[in-house]
Amino acid sequence: MKNQDLHTKDQQYYLPTFKRIPLTFIKGAGAKLWDVENKEYTDLLAGIAVNNVGHCHPKVVKAIQEQAAELMHISNFFVSPAQVGLSELLVKISGLDRVFITNSGAESVEGAIKIARRYAHSKGKGGKIISMENSFHGRTLATIATGQPKYQEGFGPMPSGFVQVPFNDLAAIQKEIDQDVAAIILEPIQGEGGIIPADPKYLKSLRALCDEHDVVLIFDEIQSGIGRTGQWFAKDIYGVQPDIMTLAKGLGGGMPIGAFLCNEKISNSIQFGDHGTTFGGNPMAASAALATLKVIMDENLRQAAQEKGDWLKAKLNGLKNKFPIIQEVRGEGLMLGIVLDIPALGIMQKLLKAGFITNATAGNVLRLVPPLNIEKEALENFLNAFELVLIQQENEIHAKS
Ligand SMILES: *Cc1c(COP(=O)(O)O)cnc(C)c1O
Repeated sequence: MKNQDLHTKDQQYYLPTFKRIPLTFIKGAGAKLWDVENKEYTDLLAGIAVNNVGHCHPKVVKAIQEQAAELMHISNFFVSPAQVGLSELLVKISGLDRVFITNSGAESVEGAIKIARRYAHSKGKGGKIISMENSFHGRTLATIATGQPKYQEGFGPMPSGFVQVPFNDLAAIQKEIDQDVAAIILEPIQGEGGIIPADPKYLKSLRALCDEHDVVLIFDEIQSGIGRTGQWFAKDIYGVQPDIMTLAKGLGGGMPIGAFLCNEKISNSIQFGDHGTTFGGNPMAASAALATLKVIMDENLRQAAQEKGDWLKAKLNGLKNKFPIIQEVRGEGLMLGIVLDIPALGIMQKLLKAGFITNATAGNVLRLVPPLNIEKEALENFLNAFELVLIQQENEIHAKS
């Protein structure tokens, strides 16, 4: 089997929504991946911030195998131990009061918007949702209505009741706030938008503004959550508690699962029948998520993310001083963006050739979201490869000019 053959077949059958790289991976362990031609890669993308405990963590594999042999699915008409265990743990680590488990990020955001509107309506308010320019909340109709216009093109009419304001701009929000506004949704650290952290003062003021006007504050922590930034959630770095928080990506250690959580105030407006899901939080997904969270606790992976992230950021800033191509290094823990003054795609491709998987986002940002348990040695190897790519890139630029 060859990488290229499978790519050709994939292109024949799959909707052309993805511009896939002609690489077929068949095995993973920790931060290592192997393609079908047995070439080894170091994964600094982790399935887009999903494999936070690495590929095929033995404890997660075991939990899935054992659960699969016992019971894969019941329905939410009944209780399951894994789901109860996961709900209890999510409440404990988030400081919020109630959970609803979904199958994906977009579904978590949809649920968050629904319960925020339900709360607002119970207070006699409208259902308008304020979101941020440059944000990303998913690809369903309501979530593209909150997001960047490029994702809305050709899919109109858009659901109504959504407005966008610039990120990190409190005055822009103050201007929009009235009795029609139900909620504000934002990522504490914008992910797809290019790893852009919210300003701490801005988040605190936003919390105060929402309290003052009884507007629901929703944090989308789908990318920034589950230990990635060195805390369980990025909100913990800021010390700001939202009314609703969405999760997915890293939650299941690779299994598709998401969740939204809310405080008592919001949950009091929810009644039997207000929301539902067939698969959400089924024993398979819930046991994988529970095992994943336990690994993060048992192996101190939040601390690891913090320490390795700080170290990596310092090293990258060292490279920034040597290579003017690098404009800025941003982010927290192991959620880092290297802002370049050229498109990041070419750099990403050169790194891939050298055996390192990264990602280009927002045009000129190279995104690093590796497993939290990636070895220091793997990061050192990456830094060496990155430096060589930067030298190569500079030579190419000089050759042209
Ligand atoms: C990835 C992502 C989503 C969408 O998650 P899906 O599982 O792809 O639906 C939503 N919000 C943020 C912040 C994300 O990073």
